[in-house]
Amino acid sequence: MTTALYPGSFDPITNGHLDIIKRASSIFDKVVIGVYDIPLKSLLFTADERVDLVKKSVADFKNVEVRAYSGMTVEFARQVNAKVVVRGLRASSDFEREFEMALMNKKLAPDVELMCFMANLRYQFLSSSLLKEIIKLGGNLDDMVPTHVCAALKKKLLT
Ligand code: ADP
Repeated sequence: MTTALYPGSFDPITNGHLDIIKRASSIFDKVVIGVYDIPLKSLLFTADERVDLVKKSVADFKNVEVRAYSGMTVEFARQVNAKVVVRGLRASSDFEREFEMALMNKKLAPDVELMCFMANLRYQFLSSSLLKEIIKLGGNLDDMVPTHVCAALKKKLLT
């Protein structure tokens, strides 16, 4: 049985993340989505809110589990018995950072493998930070996030 860990801030989860989750869940026996508890960047949603939004989004996936974590990703991967860490790569913007993190993680935990999925063409431009700008400017997020995520963004940013 092969378990994969998909770690991230998910502030909030988008259809781009969900596309990666769907593809990973069709390859691995189990996918654990690891929601960083306290990342170094400042976030809009609390860890509990981000976990709830992810849980609602993946309710239909039978082999996907959602957990918040703190500390090192590779340590959490070992804790949940994940041999593989999954990440998504959008054109140009993600590669350098992911490469750097992958090399460091490999040094820290040679037993954990990284697997990067190329972002779906439809979601190449999609980022959680861009969504926040669009909502603030009154734009439409159809096809970018699940409806409950759109509602949560509006509540947080417009009320
Ligand atoms: P982090 O703080 O770890 O970058 P994110 O929630 O921003 O957390 O992203 C988690 C993972 O999902 C990263 O590997 C990121 O590159 C990937 N990702 C983000 N947006 C998309 C997207 N639109 N399509 C595919 N992968 C994405």
